[in-house]
Amino acid sequence: MYIVPEKEIAGLMTREAAFDAVEKVFAAMASGDAYNFPVVREAIGHEDALYGFKGGFDRAGLTLGLKAGGYWPNNLEKRGLINHQSTVFLFDPDTGKAKAMVGGNLLTALRTAAASSVSIKHLARKDAKVIGMIGAGHQAKFQLRAALEQRQFEKVIGWNLHPDMLPNLQEVADEAGLPFEAVELDGMREADVIISITSSFDAILNTAQVSPGTHIACMGTDTKGKQEVDPQLLVAADVFTDEVAQSISIGETQHAVAQGLIQEADVAQIGAVINGTNPGRTSGDQITLFDGTGVGLQDLAVAASVVDLAVEQGIAIEVDF
Ligand code: NAD
Repeated sequence: MYIVPEKEIAGLMTREAAFDAVEKVFAAMASGDAYNFPVVREAIGHEDALYGFKGGFDRAGLTLGLKAGGYWPNNLEKRGLINHQSTVFLFDPDTGKAKAMVGGNLLTALRTAAASSVSIKHLARKDAKVIGMIGAGHQAKFQLRAALEQRQFEKVIGWNLHPDMLPNLQEVADEAGLPFEAVELDGMREADVIISITSSFDAILNTAQVSPGTHIACMGTDTKGKQEVDPQLLVAADVFTDEVAQSISIGETQHAVAQGLIQEADVAQIGAVINGTNPGRTSGDQITLFDGTGVGLQDLAVAASVVDLAVEQGIAIEVDF
């Protein structure tokens, strides 16, 4: 089997490779060639850690495996380690033999950014000029970098509950040579694309703060109880997601569905748009909303891609296992 350590991922994986891997696996999910296994997530009663597994099988890409990991809130303070820790394990679908073990920390950020980026490619207006960020933490920088590659954006605007984190967004805008402006939530009306990536448990953005024709990618809500936008926004928008079952249980649509404002049938898979079986955006006035909940198959897809790159470049460690 191959081992690709976390420290090698940055030098191997590109945003383009992550984008391609995620776009392909979303398409495979919608055509029934790939499916995610039920997620396990447990508070283990040690170090306040949340630990779990996200797995799946992609019959089209022949990728079988799981991501194991979670959140150890004391890591940084006690040990100087990052709090989110994960590892991806891949198996040979023909034999069940372990195939690869891959550091999953950076890959998680790249695959999450690739998901919103895929949604922008397929759902945002072609003439989108202003991108609005809600959230300015670790993931927000990855999200913004990836999104800026999808349209000819001319300006970045941002809001964050903790304004001291806004320089993170400024830094990415500077890298891209774009102006950055911190705005109030009402200022989001200027945005053609909005990405929300926060740890919020209450709605931040409401319908009146979104202009017709906007594409919104809600990326922060990945757990029961979390929330980033007013449920009425899901009524106003055409709603897409990575996986419908996950979206209505732990994603942004959980609230609108629980309140009876929308039904499960109102939520479409982004993969269907990629495959051309769902028309996606059909007018310049439509609000589109992508609920990116984060599925195991995304992790497996980027891990498989990084293993190929590592083997190609002679970086993968091969062990007889
Ligand atoms: P982070 O701790 O670096 O940043 C957290 C962000 O949320 C900051 O902008 C912070 O100001 C904001 N925030 C915190 N509490 C808030 C509140 N009560 N109301 C509004 N904003 C609040 O975290 P991160 O690594 O950037 O992750 C952000 C979110 O993305 C988390 O909720 C994480 O679980 C989620 N996430 C989702 C996926 C996915 O696939 N969908 C993948 C990875 C992470």
